[in-house]
Amino acid sequence: MQHADMVVIGAGVIGLSTALRLAQAGMAVTVLERGSAGREASWAGGGILSPLHAWRYRPALLRLAWEGMRRYRDFAEEIHTASHIDPEWQACGMWILDSQEFPLLEDVIEWGASWGWHWQRHTATQMRELAPMLRTDTALFCQEVAQVRNPRLLAGLVKYVSSLGVHIRDNSEVTEIKRDGTYWVAKTGNVGVRADRVLVSGGPWTAKILAQLGIQVPIRPVRGQILLLQGQANSLPQIVLEGTHYLVQRRDGQLLIGSTSEEAGFDKSCTSTAANELLAFAHRVFPPSRSYAVTRQWSGLRPGSPDNIPFITSVPDHPGMYIASGHFRYGLTTAPITAELVRDLVLGRPTSLDLAPYGLPLANKE
Ligand SMILES: Cc1cc2nc3c(=O)[nH]c(=O)nc-3n(C[C@H](O)[C@H](O)[C@H](O)COP(=O)(O)OP(=O)(O)OC[C@H]3O[C@@H](n4cnc5c(N)ncnc54)[C@H](O)[C@@H]3O)c2cc1C
Repeated sequence: MQHADMVVIGAGVIGLSTALRLAQAGMAVTVLERGSAGREASWAGGGILSPLHAWRYRPALLRLAWEGMRRYRDFAEEIHTASHIDPEWQACGMWILDSQEFPLLEDVIEWGASWGWHWQRHTATQMRELAPMLRTDTALFCQEVAQVRNPRLLAGLVKYVSSLGVHIRDNSEVTEIKRDGTYWVAKTGNVGVRADRVLVSGGPWTAKILAQLGIQVPIRPVRGQILLLQGQANSLPQIVLEGTHYLVQRRDGQLLIGSTSEEAGFDKSCTSTAANELLAFAHRVFPPSRSYAVTRQWSGLRPGSPDNIPFITSVPDHPGMYIASGHFRYGLTTAPITAELVRDLVLGRPTSLDLAPYGLPLANKE
């Protein structure tokens, strides 16, 4: 049986970023992944590094997102330098168009300023000058919003983490976690990895993984679909958000249209209804996209949690067990700070944020 200081269950952006920080702190880390590393939600996401309509969220999510956003430039650069894969981090900014679903608050500028954001509100007339390619009325510009090309970020993370000696084992679904004296054993088929500590970062599967130990965690899969068009580079330099839909252009001109939010269990099918809805949105708001060809459609399962607030915590009565999961819509944004928090928690150091809001429901402590 292989031995590690820490076994990480799930090689999404959360598990891999945390494995990175733990390995840098000197721990021997093994990551077990049921499929291929970095190919689930972390691959499927839009790569917007910010909460969408931030004023809808509670401080516990906003603090985490803000700390993630502040770290991203260095995080992406570190991965780029070490792996030679460029995650294409760009400080592109984001337009939030006024919408019935999420109207811009009267005092939205002041609200943003209270979080340190320098937002600007523009009238329809100003928008015709500033963003003539968009069909819009009033809009808010959020200059602190950046994007990352998450499939490249994940590929870079896998390479970087592996270069530090972390064992990433694909096709290794953990079917059982059990205690063996002072150790944890994570079993994948007939093989087990024994470790002093275990981190569960299984995305939307986390509740299933923990249920066998009687640990309850309210994380569920929430399907999101995205459509990809081949556009022209620089035709839409900023992210555009209206209601629940957004446009994100990559450096090579590919245009992502996101996204749906569906309660469909673990079903990752793509639907024509979603494709039509996303395309209609893009054609209406950004007319040049009418001439772009659709090249791909995909879906991913967000690890949905109440209020989008993840669980970043040790587990009561299970010494050496940790959870980092339930990042819902913002796991890419919050991965760098999550990884630091888990590292400090594991090493017994003071954490840079109070972890109380990210603890387990009380039922687990009774
Ligand atoms: C359509 C869409 C758009 C999104 N857009 C954005 C965005 O713009 N910005 C943003 O910040 N976030 C976005 N997100 C959310 C973000 O992608 C997720 O919050 C994040 O990827 C979660 O990371 P994770 O590592 O927790 O989960 P995952 O990426 O799902 O990784 C968990 C891993 O655990 C593995 N696993 C599960 N069970 C087991 C087991 N028993 N044994 C071994 N391995 C196991 C899985 O195979 C998986 O690889 C989006 C998500 C979707 C779906």
